[in-house]
Amino acid sequence: MNVSIFELFKIGVGPSSSHTVGPMRAGRAFILSAEKSGHLSQAARLQIDLYGSLALTGKGHSTDLAVLLGVQGEQPDLIDPNCIPSMMAEIRRNHQLELNGQYPIAFDEPNDLIFHYLESLPYHPNGMRFCLFDAQKKLLQSETYYSIGGGFIVSEKETNQKNQEKSAVPYPFSTGRELLAHCKKTRFSIAKIMLENEKAWHTEAEIKAWALKIWSVMKGCIDRGCAESGILPGGLKVKRRAHIVKEKLMEQEKAGLPRDEMSWINLYALAVNEENAAGGRVVTAPTNGAAGIIPAVLHYYLSFTPNANEAGIIDFLLTATAIGILFKEGASISAAEMGCQGEVGVACSMAGGALTEVWGGTAWQVENAAEMGIEHNLGLTCDPIGGLVQIPCIERNTMGSVQAVNCAKLALMGDGTHIVSLDDAIKAMKQTGEDMKDQYKETSKGGLAIAVNQPAC
Ligand code: SF4
Repeated sequence: MNVSIFELFKIGVGPSSSHTVGPMRAGRAFILSAEKSGHLSQAARLQIDLYGSLALTGKGHSTDLAVLLGVQGEQPDLIDPNCIPSMMAEIRRNHQLELNGQYPIAFDEPNDLIFHYLESLPYHPNGMRFCLFDAQKKLLQSETYYSIGGGFIVSEKETNQKNQEKSAVPYPFSTGRELLAHCKKTRFSIAKIMLENEKAWHTEAEIKAWALKIWSVMKGCIDRGCAESGILPGGLKVKRRAHIVKEKLMEQEKAGLPRDEMSWINLYALAVNEENAAGGRVVTAPTNGAAGIIPAVLHYYLSFTPNANEAGIIDFLLTATAIGILFKEGASISAAEMGCQGEVGVACSMAGGALTEVWGGTAWQVENAAEMGIEHNLGLTCDPIGGLVQIPCIERNTMGSVQAVNCAKLALMGDGTHIVSLDDAIKAMKQTGEDMKDQYKETSKGGLAIAVNQPAC
């Protein structure tokens, strides 16, 4: 167990964790490594090759701008999303890249940024290679990276190394069974187990501050999403709906109608995913495509649960992290490997379990809710129209959010005993992902992505 709440929840930019956040981080990692090797001052040309899913849905998911800004030294958590269009326009106008912001080289698109639509690298469908040359066309340095989901990246070298443990945690777990065994032995909640493990790497104050910061970025995203209107970028002409939904809900309440909980949950999820689709600031939770579910359910908890408080926010996010770890350990959170079950299904499971925790559920009820969250998303395909993270992604987050609340409600009606364990459901997800045809795994080559372009019979 090597993943922390500081890594699973990343502050980033839309529209995709694996296709935008990961490639930007990879671009920066490569350029920092080249700087360390002393190669940047001799550099005359940089060639970037994108493979597999990164090539197939890279344009719709902004992979091209992510890698270019990454090699200029930009970071997903610090870049101002509003400045991205002008930064890209400058690169393309001047035909020049500023490597790590300091070393200008010519940039010849498309020869220096190549999309390999028919080729995948062996380790993972989201592969990219950076090659740096001097003025005599001699290769100075090259590295291959994989964006393995949720904004996590690994270099080719790291794929050959054993996972390095950061430092031992008091309650290691990689399965739900192990996690529940710790809860049984210690009588700690899942959030408390996770907090004690995080304390191996950070102080308690830092952990709590990070959780609250994550929530404040999520809340900011919801607020911006509710305020914006217009058409989302990308050419599909998808209208933003969050602000209209919010106005309607306010009118209904003004007229004395009862609060419509489900519509508020829908609103929160719509707001986040519209911001994500617009390339705005979002929290990867645990991916960008599914970034609306955890904020929507957490906002719902804060708005509709009497006595909801800051401690609840922290416990919610710690519990969600523990569940996310089980998926990263047992399967994958990359849609290019698992389809949408690995994004929306995982986020639904994390949110359902986390809500159960802060509603006072036992560890066994939390596990039950998390299991339902993935069980009923098994087989969910990833087939975004036009390679954009818009249809079905935006609405799908509303479905995942409402479903997560239902999972918590159902789990709390029981005593935590159930037939299919979370571990078994994760195994089933992995097997289903492996059996799923590639056209349903973030390639936009099947399902909805092509159905809308089919002539009517
Ligand atoms: S369909 Fe699901 S997995 Fe695919 S891009 Fe959309 S949200 Fe992500």
